[in-house]
Amino acid sequence: MLNGRFACLSLLIILLLASNRIEAESRRRIAAFNVGLQPALTLASAAIQGKLRTRGDWWRCIRAGAIAGGGFYEAKVLDGNGHTRAALATASLASSITRNAAAGRPELARVGMPIGPLWLDASTPFDKDPVAPLHLQTSVAELVAFALERQENDRIVFRDGLIAFRKSGRYEHDRRRFTGYTFGVFPGTSDDATQKTWHHETVHVIESMQADSVEPPACAWLRRCNPLRRKFGILTWEPLQLGVLPASGGLLLSKQDYPERFTEIEATWLAERRAPR
Ligand SMILES: [Zn+2]
Repeated sequence: MLNGRFACLSLLIILLLASNRIEAESRRRIAAFNVGLQPALTLASAAIQGKLRTRGDWWRCIRAGAIAGGGFYEAKVLDGNGHTRAALATASLASSITRNAAAGRPELARVGMPIGPLWLDASTPFDKDPVAPLHLQTSVAELVAFALERQENDRIVFRDGLIAFRKSGRYEHDRRRFTGYTFGVFPGTSDDATQKTWHHETVHVIESMQADSVEPPACAWLRRCNPLRRKFGILTWEPLQLGVLPASGGLLLSKQDYPERFTEIEATWLAERRAPR
């Protein structure tokens, strides 16, 4: 009997250690992916914006991308541990660093945050030619995400500093039923969703902020950016973003099975401590 109990206890400890090892290994892979991918995307964004000319430009994008990638990973970990507001503040700073580097500005020239489909930036003393102290930009992809999320849900709420959506039923996608569903930076949860689901969905919000941070403005894709900004009082209106990168990333992911999508692996491991299934 004692031997039986001892065997059970040993098995439990071995399973616990093994699952901890799998979790640690998954987190290590997720961290490496964030820190590795962000510099590559920052370089690509800078190249499209015509801001990758000198060795200094390359170095700025690699350095800023790696710091921002680490920042995004930390933001997702914070979120997974239940600290959504701190996570969003960290992700906003990481986004700002990447946006500045890709646009050819010093890494801390502007610090911003998302307000629904808008991105509001404030110039810091590092901004050499600010024109105005505040800057607004919008993304077509985020406007579409807002419309789609609104269509899926019953009502809008304001939660943890985000425009979020609620629904009384379940979300039906990929031949599955979910208690949470997020488009862009707009998280949606059903009325019976758990707190873990909220954090899973807000990890997706941070992923969208990350994708938006490397999207060049529409005029850069067409090579027709006008360096002169129109000023409205204390505000400049920055060129519109289309959302080519988030939209193509989303399309590629939708071709994969749900448990194999990196965005789901990341959100499920960090918010729910398990692999997606
Ligand atoms: Zn998910």
